[in-house]
Amino acid sequence: MVIFAPMFDFFVIGAGLSGSTLAWRLINGGYKIKVFDKPKLNISSNIAGGIINPLTGKRTALTWKAHDIFDELHKFYPETENKTGISFFKLMPTYKLFESRFEQNEWLNKSAEKNYNCFFENIPEYLDQSKINNPFGSLLIKETAKLDVKKYLNTLHNFLLNQNSIEFCMVENLKIGNNSVTFNGEKAKAVIYCDGTFATQNHYFSYLPHKPVHGEVLEVEIENFYNDRMINKGIFIIPQYKNKYIVGSTYNWNIKETVTTQNGRDELEKKLFNLIKLPFKIVNHFAGIRPSTNDRRPFLGKHPGYENVFIFGGMGSKGVSLVPYLSKVFINYISGKGKIPSECDISRIK
Ligand SMILES: Cc1cc2nc3c(=O)[nH]c(=O)nc-3n(C[C@H](O)[C@H](O)[C@H](O)COP(=O)(O)OP(=O)(O)OC[C@H]3O[C@@H](n4cnc5c(N)ncnc54)[C@H](O)[C@@H]3O)c2cc1C
Repeated sequence: MVIFAPMFDFFVIGAGLSGSTLAWRLINGGYKIKVFDKPKLNISSNIAGGIINPLTGKRTALTWKAHDIFDELHKFYPETENKTGISFFKLMPTYKLFESRFEQNEWLNKSAEKNYNCFFENIPEYLDQSKINNPFGSLLIKETAKLDVKKYLNTLHNFLLNQNSIEFCMVENLKIGNNSVTFNGEKAKAVIYCDGTFATQNHYFSYLPHKPVHGEVLEVEIENFYNDRMINKGIFIIPQYKNKYIVGSTYNWNIKETVTTQNGRDELEKKLFNLIKLPFKIVNHFAGIRPSTNDRRPFLGKHPGYENVFIFGGMGSKGVSLVPYLSKVFINYISGKGKIPSECDISRIK
């Protein structure tokens, strides 16, 4: 008797924030898929602070497509919590502490800018000076939230396990044919790479201008500090549970391995020491590599030479915010119902 293996619609390679979210949406959209993930590789998602913030970067600029991205994520995460019965998403205000009176005035002027001012309160907030150095007040950023990334990924992995749709192994030597892709005797019509920084070594997508960025975070214990808000001044302080906080993060374009460094630890420790007035204890130190790109836009689309090889990656330092919106856009694209925005379509790279 010959047993025919089922033909999947897609293989998804990687189950970090990108692959897991895409897989969740694909299955809920009726697609037959199989996800492969090799745990314990460099997985950026495992150490992500989980910050969701529309005003980012050194200049605190409004993030790309902020309105679309924030509308979608504020729907997607609560809906996924409802469907799974597990909570991992929390609205949490962010206080961006001003460096100077000049910066404070600049922000008061920005409050007149339409499109922008819906994301912040223009009244400077002064935090408790016995806890933190805050001589110039702070901007209260709205729409910010925190995703418990580990809990979110565990929830989606359990969902995939229950569906028999995930296997924990390394994908190597995938065979690409005209109408199918084959791995370990199983077949799918197409493959979607969600392999994070591993795309730099991936035969099909290493040609893209990747620019991975190493980053480190500390887990610290602080007693009687703010646990109801995220605080940003050169570093982020993100409440976890009880007296635990994540402090991050560093940016280093030269370190290629997922290793923690003394320099990274010192940099974060010094910034925290200068910022808060309470004693703290470092209890953990983690490192990861962000799947960033040369032009700071994600990599979505079809390989120029293969009809059935796709990429969904390049999320850089904003995967938590980007994946709900971009996974929706990507599924519309592969089902022929929409286009990928030109800024993140890989066809932009010649
Ligand atoms: C220090 C630091 C702090 C961060 N903080 C935040 C934050 O606060 N907010 C935010 O939005 N983002 C943050 N990020 C960025 C965020 O982590 C990334 O945007 C996001 O996690 C990328 O997810 P991904 O699924 O694309 O990649 P990854 O998380 O790296 O996942 C890729 C997966 O693919 C698997 N894989 C690769 N190749 C293969 C293969 N051949 N076979 C099988 N499996 C394979 C890997 O094992 C891995 O599980 C931070 C990153 C760092 C480093």
